[in-house]
Formats: sequence, structure tokens, C-alpha cells
Amino acid sequence: MTARVLVVDDILANVRLLEAKLTAEYFEVITAMNGVDALESVQRTKPDIVLLDVMMPGMDGIEVCQRIKSNPATHHIPVIMVTALDQPEDRIRGLEAGADDFLTKPVNDLALFCRVKSLARLKMLTDELRARSSTGNGVGLGQDDQRLIEDVDYPGKILLVDNRGYLADRIRAGLQGRHELTCFEDPQSAVFEAVESECDLMIINLDLQDFDGLRLCSQLRSLERTRQIPILIIVDPDDHQRMMRALDMGVNDYLMRPVDRQELLARVNTQIRRWRYTERLRNNVQQSLELAVTDPLTGFYNRRYMNTQITSLVDHAANRGKRLSLLALDVDHFKSVNDNHGHDVGDQVLQELAVRIKEYVRNIDLPCRVGGEEFVIILPETDMESACIVAERLRAAIGKKAFEVSTKSGKLPVTVSIGVAEFADSSDSLEAMLKRADDALYKAKREGRNRVISHAA
Ligand code: GH3
Ligand code: MG
Ligand code: MG
Repeated sequence: MTARVLVVDDILANVRLLEAKLTAEYFEVITAMNGVDALESVQRTKPDIVLLDVMMPGMDGIEVCQRIKSNPATHHIPVIMVTALDQPEDRIRGLEAGADDFLTKPVNDLALFCRVKSLARLKMLTDELRARSSTGNGVGLGQDDQRLIEDVDYPGKILLVDNRGYLADRIRAGLQGRHELTCFEDPQSAVFEAVESECDLMIINLDLQDFDGLRLCSQLRSLERTRQIPILIIVDPDDHQRMMRALDMGVNDYLMRPVDRQELLARVNTQIRRWRYTERLRNNVQQSLELAVTDPLTGFYNRRYMNTQITSLVDHAANRGKRLSLLALDVDHFKSVNDNHGHDVGDQVLQELAVRIKEYVRNIDLPCRVGGEEFVIILPETDMESACIVAERLRAAIGKKAFEVSTKSGKLPVTVSIGVAEFADSSDSLEAMLKRADDALYKAKREGRNRVISHAA
């Protein structure tokens, strides 16, 4: 997995060091050397993760973090604070400012990659949810995003798993009555409870008596109902190996023993806040799915959905230099199908056509029915050459075998014409692409139908 990482530090040597380490692991690195530039870069380059030095002259890392986290447009970007070892209070201040994690200088390679990778994974998930939730409702992100980050600090329900007896009191005290804590000595009962009831966080003592704490984590990560629940583990400082295993498994965060109360509360709050944010995003996605985004006849997305969905794909292509192509497909002489065989047979043709299109596109492609017998198929991460191959295969597959319909002969030959266009560069737009594909389609019609024509940008 790779990600775009913004490294912020006022000391050039520190910037260069982190840059070298991350680049060697194939991360894309952007740098900034003060708070103002960092904020500007966050807006402009849309990083996946920010590695933020706390101590900087002028605007310090805490303030930069606060600003990133209070802005609905950047709130979801994970921030890792980089603090000096002898400034433990910086960690708490950072976490209170909304930071997702911190690393201490000198930065340990393993910890660095571990944190960056796990947050990059989380960011991918959030991006996916954000993209989907912004599509159906048509309003895009904005006022919606503000709502996502508001009022998330009400008390949460936390399950603690510990059978050694020394954590419960300490953790209860650390939570200061802010959250509701239920303690389980038996790991299996905790799993049942997590499956049955709604909880916001699980805290697990990795060092359980007569039970492998890692096994418990893996169990929780593999069950459908508990897969997403945040897990915070408590580990011994010398249990590095198992801690890394746990994080690899998808455990969200860890605390070293002896548990620092302030740090506990800050980390618990961060996890719960993030959980609620993604939960709201998930609900949004659900809602937008419920909105009418599909066409009942073919099950394909409708034009409205295509417009919103492709807008974010086009942005993605523009920002990340990704390839993107689309096909405009139109049935040849469809009017005569209706005229000669009736509207019902016309509908059957459209349904069978949808089945064949589905067979010939990948899961990530988006086939849309944009008009009566007009379809647009969006092909993410596909260049013109490959798009033409897909189009040609599709055209051949449609024309080769007559469609089964309820006419006397039971068969009807159908052909289609296809226009292909590719996303050109950041000055390109959805409208311009659709126009080029349509022009190519029109040309295919003029030149005799049943063919594929591409339109260079
Ligand atoms: P060309 O090869 O140039 O594309 O000719 P065509 O006949 O396919 O194109 P035209 O645009 O003249 O006709 C499209 C027809 O599609 C007209 C309309 O009645 C029919 N149509 C549109 N929506 C539906 C539908 O949902 N079901 C059916 N059965 N027909 C539809
Ligand atoms: Mg500094
Ligand atoms: Mg037609």
C-alpha cells in the first residue's frame, strides 16, 4: 500500500530524514517547514497522512493539528504528531487537539511504518465512504461534513477485557465517569456482548491469563458484527513483537503499561470520536443508497448517479494523475425494434443488453443507463487503448449472438455503436469527456453503425 505523506518540521535535517525513510518504502512525500505552509499544503495537495512536528516557531504543531481537525474538509486526514521524548505532556496536548497518533523522536522505523500504514488503511476506508456518501445525496461534501464532526463527545459504551484484576480500577478512574465501562474476565463473554450490543470501543489486556489476547483480537476482527469496532490494547513495553502483530491485525491503538490516565482518556476519546465519524459516514452511504440511484429496468445506475459519481472520479484522476475512460454506447436502430415488435420487446432487449454489458466489464467499472437506449460505462484506471479493447469486445459480444426475446422467432439480432473518450489532463471535465464520447458515437453511427470509434482529446 502506498500513500501521500506530508512531513512537517522546522528543521531541515528532520524533514530530510523522514522523507528518505518514507520514500524508501515507496510513500509519496511532500514537505513543509512551518505551520502556515503545512496548512496551505494540506489544502492544496490533499495528503493521506500528516506527520507533524510539535515544536515549531510561529504556529506550532498543536495549532496546525487543531486547524486541520476543525475544518470539515480536512478533518478526516490522519495526523501523527512527532514529539520530543522528554515532553510527555505534548502527547496529551496533541491527542486533545485531535491528533490520531504520535511518534517520539528519534523516530523508530518500525513504529513509523506501522503507524503510517495503519492510518493509511483507515484513510482509504474513510475516503471510500466519503466518496460514496457524497454521491447519492447530490449536495456533495460541505454542510454534510460539518454535521459529521459535530456532537461526537457524548459518553460512549466501553467493554474492558481483563482477567488479571489490576486494570479495571485504574481504567475506570482514568475515564473519570466520561464513559460507561463494563468489565469482562471471560474473553468469550466479551465477544458475545460485543456481538449482541452496540459498543463504541473495546479495551483489551493483551497479556491475559490462560488466553491469548492476540487470538481475541483476531476473533473480533473476523466476525462481521465486530469487525469495525475500535480496539485499544494494553501491552507491556517489552512486548513489542505482539504489539506489532496486533496492529497488523487491525487493532486500532495501544497503551503501554503502566497506563497513564491522561493518555488513556485522550486515546479513548480519539477512538470513539473517529468511530462515530465513520459510523455517520456509513449511515450517509446507506441513505444515499436508498435514494433512487438505479434504473429499475436494467439495475444500472441512472444519469443523476453517474453525474455525481463520476465527478469525484474525475477529481481523483485530476489530482492523482489516474487514468479514466468512458464509453458512450447506443443501440442501433432501436426505434425499429419498438416499431416492429412493440415496446415490451424493446424493454427485453435493453435488459439483455444490460446483462451482456455486466458480463464484459470489471467490478470497478460503472455502467449507467443515461437515456432510453443510451448507456455510459465509466472505466476507472483505464487508458484509451484498453478502453477501446473493452469496447470492441463488448460490441462483438452483443452483435455475435441474437438476443432472446418474446417474438415469434424468439430471436432478434442487435448491434450497438460505441464512442470512446479518455480523461486528458486536469483541465479536462466530465462534460468535455462526455461530449467527446458522444461525438465519437455519432461518427460511428454515420460510418455505418455496429462499430467502435475513439475520440482523442
Ligand atoms: P440509431 O441507430 O441512430 O441510434 O437509431 P435509433 O432508432 O436507435 O435511435 P432513436 O433515438 O431514433 O430511437 C430511440 C428509441 O428508443 C426511441 C424510443 O421510443 C425508444 N426508447 C427509449 N426508451 C425506451 C424504453 O425504456 N423502452 C423501450 N422499449 N424503448 C425505448
Ligand atoms: Mg521543531
Ligand atoms: Mg439508438
